[in-house]
Amino acid sequence: MLKEPVVDHELCIGCGVCAEFCPEVFEIRDDKSWVIGSDKCDTCDCEEAIASCPVEAIEMLDK
Ligand code: SF4
Repeated sequence: MLKEPVVDHELCIGCGVCAEFCPEVFEIRDDKSWVIGSDKCDTCDCEEAIASCPVEAIEMLDK
């Protein structure tokens, strides 16, 4: 099953950590993280970003 990262904007504080780990997937705009390339992470499948988000705002959901 294909999965894609989804950011909960109620939780996201715009810290930028996810974009540092996966810049091809996440972009910070207006103090929130936006998914710009859900299948673009070819290094960690966004696991590093998910594990490092301080407010656990990123989830992998079925496409
Ligand atoms: S790491 Fe979490 S809180 Fe920080 S910008 Fe990304 S989604 Fe938002």
